[in-house]
Amino acid sequence: MDGMHYSSRWRVIGHEWAIEHLTRSLNANRLRHAYLITGAAGIGKTTFAWALAQAVSCLADEGRPCGVCRACTLVAHNNYADFNLIESDASRLKIEQIRDMQRVLALRPVEGRYRVVLLRRFHEATPQAMDSLLKTLEEPPPYVLLLLTADATESLLPTIRSRCQPIRLRPLPTPVVRHALEAQFGADPERAALLAQLSGGRMGWAVRALQDESLLDRRNEWIEKLENALGMTRAGRFALAEALSRDKSALEPLLDLWQSYWRDAMLLGYSATTPITNRDRQNSLGQIARSISVDEAHHALTAIRRTQRYLKQNVNPRLALDVLMLDMPRVRVYPAPPGPGD
Ligand SMILES: [Zn+2]
Repeated sequence: MDGMHYSSRWRVIGHEWAIEHLTRSLNANRLRHAYLITGAAGIGKTTFAWALAQAVSCLADEGRPCGVCRACTLVAHNNYADFNLIESDASRLKIEQIRDMQRVLALRPVEGRYRVVLLRRFHEATPQAMDSLLKTLEEPPPYVLLLLTADATESLLPTIRSRCQPIRLRPLPTPVVRHALEAQFGADPERAALLAQLSGGRMGWAVRALQDESLLDRRNEWIEKLENALGMTRAGRFALAEALSRDKSALEPLLDLWQSYWRDAMLLGYSATTPITNRDRQNSLGQIARSISVDEAHHALTAIRRTQRYLKQNVNPRLALDVLMLDMPRVRVYPAPPGPGD
């Protein structure tokens, strides 16, 4: 179309509505100065933000982001003068990092129209860092584009949320993930089907699990821990809580996984033939669904959500997990009988 400089063909799988929305804003020259990209861990927030950074930096006349020009290539390699990535190291994103960013933002862009800053995992920023960012959000220089990603928005200051345009990424349909794993990431069909199913529509998770086998091993280990704990007394459960609380960084993905597990148990309680996420655990989930009521499964699910809230409020992890363990139903899960050929 005449006068259309930006294309909605980004190197992003899914999320078409968000891409089209931004492409319209770009073509109308109505891009906002700050976007808050949210959605479950591993859903593809960073990939999405990166593609937007490419779109605004691209040098092509038509069809931006072209993906091949100098700017697109440098952005993709985090090597572009007008693009900065800010993320926390082992701890939380700190005020010093925001101050450094503000010094950079005071300078006009060197090459492109925008100076883009991607602030990853901003839900983990310290309150001081959030306060400091507000200053930039209130009076951004005209050439600034801030892209914040966050798994959850509860821990963000309300004033940050209100000053950013929200973009909430939703899980992709399983067939879309499966097809992309095969067509673009070279997964064999069987593995693509399994990972797509387990991903819960989170493309980023699926790609990481494809490239790093230990992710799937860790997932299996976490589910086995949960299933074992269900048959344990208090003492055994508290020992597990103690062991798990030692690795704080693992708790978020662990609780996400357990949440999907209880959701499956609840769904199977309604109907034994419902398609579930953790299909490889069909046997043990079926046992649980037959042993407890739907209400009990829902109670466990709610308890996990509450634990996640506690952890975001910096409740002591050991304490939060102890309470969670008491809210899990008592069920004995027996291993699946060996299949043919095992
Ligand atoms: Zn380009």
